[in-house]
Amino acid sequence: MSLTLQTAIQGNPASTAVIIPSRPEPLTVSYASLVSQVGAFQQKLADLGITTASPVSIALVNSWEFIVSFLAASWQRGIAAPLNPAYKQDEFEFYIDDVKSAIVLVPRGAWAAGAPSVKAAKKFNAAVAECYWDAAKGEVVLDVKDLGRLKGTKEKLLTAEPDDVALILHTSGTTSRPKVVPLTHRNLTRTMRNIQNTYQLTPQDRTMLVMPLFHVHGLVCGLLAPFLSGGSMVVPSKFSASDFWRDFTTHGANWYTAVPTIHQILLKNPPPSPKPAIRFIRSCSSPLSPTVFHQLEKTYDAPVLEAYAMTEAAHQMTSNPLPPAKRKPGSVGLGQGVEVRILNEAGDELPQGQEGEISIRGENVTKGYLNNPSANASSYTASGFFRTGDQGKLDEDGYVVITGRIKELINKGGEKISPIELDNVLTRHPKVGEAVSFAIPDEVYGQDIGVAVVLKPGESLTADELKAFVAEKSVKFKVPKKVYFTKVMPKTATGKIQRRIVAETMVKQDA
Ligand code: ATP
Ligand code: MG
Repeated sequence: MSLTLQTAIQGNPASTAVIIPSRPEPLTVSYASLVSQVGAFQQKLADLGITTASPVSIALVNSWEFIVSFLAASWQRGIAAPLNPAYKQDEFEFYIDDVKSAIVLVPRGAWAAGAPSVKAAKKFNAAVAECYWDAAKGEVVLDVKDLGRLKGTKEKLLTAEPDDVALILHTSGTTSRPKVVPLTHRNLTRTMRNIQNTYQLTPQDRTMLVMPLFHVHGLVCGLLAPFLSGGSMVVPSKFSASDFWRDFTTHGANWYTAVPTIHQILLKNPPPSPKPAIRFIRSCSSPLSPTVFHQLEKTYDAPVLEAYAMTEAAHQMTSNPLPPAKRKPGSVGLGQGVEVRILNEAGDELPQGQEGEISIRGENVTKGYLNNPSANASSYTASGFFRTGDQGKLDEDGYVVITGRIKELINKGGEKISPIELDNVLTRHPKVGEAVSFAIPDEVYGQDIGVAVVLKPGESLTADELKAFVAEKSVKFKVPKKVYFTKVMPKTATGKIQRRIVAETMVKQDA
């Protein structure tokens, strides 16, 4: 039977669904209360005129009001469109215009303050409503400040169908202008089921949700998958290194998922003893270096499972499995409810061991980008495989190894260099904290290798010493031409490395 984001909420009514650890008093919500509060908020949206396919933009931090408004919009056959609440006005304008928001939900006080989200909403005549938790009333308030083009005509309360679009998100914009990805209830609930199966999530599991809810990582793995398994989550407003372990232990979490940047920050702020019992740690969205993988397993005494995901796949595609099955550092594991093939440019399947484009097929994958016929024409093969744009291969056990993005491979006079492989060589140097490799223009080879390096605190190293280290570990053509030492590595809001941006920043700083 196909699920929707309404029927997929399967916790026992009396059990805890969500804990918001705000101080002084944390908020604990049961499944029964979750369902009734979302229903009440859905009624408020319907009364305002939200109906089938109305985009509801949510410019809120991770919070109870985010969770309620997100679910309510999708239950009402509307489309939830979460936005990073820290965007500047230009960014809000870009996204609100792109998704044609009917209404923009903003935090309490944003209207009077003339917040960037409010100004952008007004520019495109979207309604604006403040949305916040009222502890005295025990409800999420929808305080409408401006109806925009909605006009307040009451709509009927609706029930979503599996093929309704539930969510619109943009890709991260790593390789080009962010692309608009519509995801249906079917796409999302398929990934939720795949994640539940991969990690054998049960009602006893409680996750510490620190990834932002405006990307699929936090939204689908952190928030939605546990709802399907009847488990629960602890949801602070954002990741904080100093609060993480206190919230984790106080509220009894037993797993978390995050990007490698967060894992690295936590390694510097390890848990108090006695160590909490962690069932597993999931890493996703950027490559996890084998060095960090081993440090994590040693520090936390828990299996580290690296997964591979993208917006177009409603998040997860592959993951390393739980023990006793093998998990492999440097690999993103096996297709999980998703078929994986390595294809050449012509779309033929390549044999095990050969590098090509990682391509996937499954109920989780979007039917196509919005308003982007050229990307749609080039992204799907005749047999319905979606081309991820990532380069990779299958190892002898069928585990996927990502070697880089096709657009980011460094082509040095015909020699293709995988930037991820080179990053992993560089971070094996004991003085190197972070390393990012990228192409730089070269008169002789067309492209050569540049690397940006952040040293560990208090360390010093010369470019020649680092080049000599690479020369010891790799063939000569992989030795970088230029080493850029930097104090901080430029990253996106979710802690993702954008090689294009790192390259531009380094070359600019150097000029
Ligand atoms: P755009 O598509 O706009 O260029 P983007 O691909 O970064 O941006 P997302 O959908 O957020 O947007 O990210 C998906 C990509 O993230 C994947 O295609 C892959 O390149 C990368 N990725 C995800 N998980 C991993 C991982 N475990 N290791 C390496 N790369 C990963
Ligand atoms: Mg992409």
